[in-house]
Amino acid sequence: MHDATRLTHGGRDPKRQQGAVNPPVHHVSTVIFDTLEALENKHRLPPGSMTYGRHGTPLHHDLEQLMAELEGAHGAVSCCSGLAAISIALLSVVEAGAHLLVADNVYGPTRHLCDGLLARMGVQTTYFDPALGADVARLMRPETRAVYLEAPGSLTFEICDVPAIAAAAHEHDCCVLFDNTWATPLFFRAFDHGVDISIHAATKYVVGHTDAMLGVVSGNERHAASVRRTASDLGYYAGPDDVYLGLRGLRTLAVRLQQHQHNALALADWLAGRPEVAAVLHPARIDHPQHELWQRDFAGASGLFAAVLQPVARERLAAMLDGLQYFGMGYSWGGYESLMLPVDPATTRSATQWAWPGPTLRIHAGLENVDDLIADLTAGFERLAG
Ligand SMILES: *Cc1c(COP(=O)(O)O)cnc(C)c1O
Repeated sequence: MHDATRLTHGGRDPKRQQGAVNPPVHHVSTVIFDTLEALENKHRLPPGSMTYGRHGTPLHHDLEQLMAELEGAHGAVSCCSGLAAISIALLSVVEAGAHLLVADNVYGPTRHLCDGLLARMGVQTTYFDPALGADVARLMRPETRAVYLEAPGSLTFEICDVPAIAAAAHEHDCCVLFDNTWATPLFFRAFDHGVDISIHAATKYVVGHTDAMLGVVSGNERHAASVRRTASDLGYYAGPDDVYLGLRGLRTLAVRLQQHQHNALALADWLAGRPEVAAVLHPARIDHPQHELWQRDFAGASGLFAAVLQPVARERLAAMLDGLQYFGMGYSWGGYESLMLPVDPATTRSATQWAWPGPTLRIHAGLENVDDLIADLTAGFERLAG
């Protein structure tokens, strides 16, 4: 079955739903058991059965099954945000005294978690240059439990050699955790590239409409059960309405991603020709330093990339950003709307340096007509010039 067909027909069963195309939403905490025997045998019920609200509903099971199938995982678990998914993944593999290797380009809150809560629990983190590839083996210690990757990084868009790093990690009996939010299961088959636990901020493209927070963690055969156990221990339950929005978002993921990809590449190519732009950071462009890795391992590019401007005064940048008509300035991405956010990658790195002097703009290409977006940016550059 191709992904588009799976997205349409997976994770639902009209026969189970009195013929309704979409599955119902259960708002539930208490579940009543008819008999003492039923209560005592609740653990023997098939997956997706309701026993208590926090343990999930058939809808949770539908979303988790569909995500696991799309990604080629053994199992997946939903949770209340992308950051909760990151916490579940990390906490499922560490213990006091453990050591983690984390790529220097990861999402900022991942670093906060490692440097704060995990450090307090006695877990040490070493950040490494994602360009190291298999040489990451040099940083491994007997107590190293996992290598954590994100490709491309959501601020700087570096791609790392996932299969090479995974091979080195497995040789040292370390597992590989991968934040797959940018590519989604459609554009990066994490488990085919040696990943053991894959993390999704489903808030982004899965939900796709900027109206819910949701996370999904999936694991291979070795890790799926401990991931589920950790999610359950933490009580990171995703509300049923948000799960519904995630499942509904998945139905259109393939077509939305095609348009995000098309618009982002058109904007990236146009920006690369502008004198105000020092560099465009988009892995699907041939001038990207790891373009070949992207081409080898990824099936497509989503709508998020960055442009580094030539150094410019803050008031001029403000004039450009404040007057944009279609590009909203705000956090998160993956919705239908375009966004532009000034970011400072230098503040979320420690093993490598960020060399660009000018401001970095992270751009999410939404589903608008790309000519309208380019007209908005053209007017923005006029304001930038003053
Ligand atoms: C947004 C984001 C997250 C966190 O997701 P939330 O749902 O906002 O908690 C994790 N990883 C990446 C790459 C993200 O962009």
